[in-house]
Amino acid sequence: MLSVIQNPPRIALPIVGSSDLFPVRRVYCVGRNYAAHAREMGADPDREPPFFFMKPADALQIVGSEPTPHPYPSKTRNYHFEVEMVAALAGGGTDISAADVLDQVYGYAIGLDMTRRDVQDEAKALSRPWDTAKAADGSGPIGALHPASLVGHPARGEITLSVDGQTRQKGDLGDMIWSVAEQIAYLSGYFALQPGDLIFTGTPSGVGPVERGQRMVAAIAGLGAITLDVV
Ligand code: MN
Repeated sequence: MLSVIQNPPRIALPIVGSSDLFPVRRVYCVGRNYAAHAREMGADPDREPPFFFMKPADALQIVGSEPTPHPYPSKTRNYHFEVEMVAALAGGGTDISAADVLDQVYGYAIGLDMTRRDVQDEAKALSRPWDTAKAADGSGPIGALHPASLVGHPARGEITLSVDGQTRQKGDLGDMIWSVAEQIAYLSGYFALQPGDLIFTGTPSGVGPVERGQRMVAAIAGLGAITLDVV
């Protein structure tokens, strides 16, 4: 049987220390998972259970070890960076217990949940969905996957983002309100998680705008860094 159009390419992540690839299925993102960031967005970090939204897999931008051009999207004048650790699932299931869930994680990467903040603010005010704010083409820059067999399951360590050499976001993975295991367990109550799913695990405080011509460097202890030149 033939496809009536060319089959869309499957998005796949490179893997550190290997020529193999990790094919991506879905991309889940958790909101407001660091207390200081929840406060800067006007929310109360103590009362909210985790909430999730999604990016299309083909909104990811695969970033190698070299500085990579990152196109500034249309329809925004307030395009924000959010540095996040990304967990990649090799397994899945429904109603997984948090105690067992890390066995399902293949590895971790550095990601950016790039956001049209002005569009998001408008959507919030009008109680509309966030897709046009969060799912812009290229809005999920992501570096190579570091297998858990090499780096373990990072539970603490510095997570930073700098713009033109100036540190803008600085947090610690240990400051997540919901741990990676808790996020995955909670998410598995709503969706049948499957191999290839990614979870963007939230951003520390300090989110802000970036402009064309600026360089972003996102780094997580043990996972290296990715560099993006906004064009
Ligand atoms: Mn985010």
